[in-house]
Amino acid sequence: MLEYCRQNAIALRQQEPLSAHTTFKVGGPAQWFALPDTEEKLCMLLQECRRRGVKTAVIGRGSNLLVSDKGFCGMVISTSALEAVGVTGCTVAAQCGAALSFIAAQAARYGLQGLEFAQGIPGSLGGALVMNAGAYDGEMSMVVRQSRAVSPQGEIITLGAAEHEFGYRTSFFKTHPGYVVLSSELVLEQGIREEIERKMSDFAERRRQKQPLNKPSAGSAYKRPQGHFAGQLIEQCGLKGCQVGGARVSDKHAGFIVNEGGATASDILRLMDHIEKTVKEQTGVTLEREIRLLD
Ligand SMILES: Cc1cc2nc3c(=O)[nH]c(=O)nc-3n(C[C@H](O)[C@H](O)[C@H](O)COP(=O)(O)OP(=O)(O)OC[C@H]3O[C@@H](n4cnc5c(N)ncnc54)[C@H](O)[C@@H]3O)c2cc1C
Repeated sequence: MLEYCRQNAIALRQQEPLSAHTTFKVGGPAQWFALPDTEEKLCMLLQECRRRGVKTAVIGRGSNLLVSDKGFCGMVISTSALEAVGVTGCTVAAQCGAALSFIAAQAARYGLQGLEFAQGIPGSLGGALVMNAGAYDGEMSMVVRQSRAVSPQGEIITLGAAEHEFGYRTSFFKTHPGYVVLSSELVLEQGIREEIERKMSDFAERRRQKQPLNKPSAGSAYKRPQGHFAGQLIEQCGLKGCQVGGARVSDKHAGFIVNEGGATASDILRLMDHIEKTVKEQTGVTLEREIRLLD
């Protein structure tokens, strides 16, 4: 792979610690870690890995990921060098690796409303589409017009809004893991810049007050169970502050698991198993994980 990437000018690292590429700051090394800076290079690399039988994983900003302690045996492809964002009229076109908060800030600069919710979600556009990321009554499904993606067979496809099959924290890309998002067009509405920015500051303040933003985490560990809030259930079961190794149920928001320093993926997984078992026993509710495991 080294020679192939050198010949094709694809930045490649070996035994790269994935803890440096996840917001949890946890995870062992990737055997190979590539940072393609064009969509063509990304597609070529996927194809080459397929041809050689090398296992691949595409990651964005690593803000919804728990990487195992033993790392990833294969090629991890980071989209973070694919970050172009352009605004034309009410349309924002962005590459998969663009930071969602940057896209939201650009939209606000042009007085475009509809993406205020995305400010403060520390993911990439690609990761946000996979997860149908959302907050404060907004989510990606409300703004996406179309996306380009590459199929597991290497074919470039365009998906219209309905073809994304968005649902609560899910999409076509989540249920079809071999597809890789390349770029998307988001349609917003003309608004007033000051009002948009005020709304974004308000959301940011609400996050600062409620979420443990000063500690490494992957955001909400669980999806919202029907009729409940995961954090409330966890707190109600007396699990706030519960700790396994360096992993702890946040004292500020029980829906977050935080890395107190030196946490391993195995600490986090053991804590999650304990939370799920306790909540099931005490309330009868099954918690579904929002955090995605990479191993
Ligand atoms: C402090 C904090 C607050 C958060 N708040 C929110 C919130 O309010 N709302 C919310 O919904 N989420 C929230 N999150 C979770 C997270 O930011 C989102 O899920 C985000 O969309 C993940 O994007 P990412 O680029 O980090 O994806 P990653 O974590 O890198 O990857 C997530 C999944 O998407 C896949 N993937 C990534 N890029 C692509 C691509 N281009 N093509 C195909 N698959 C891809 C990966 O393989 C993986 O399975 C929060 C996280 C943190 C740490």
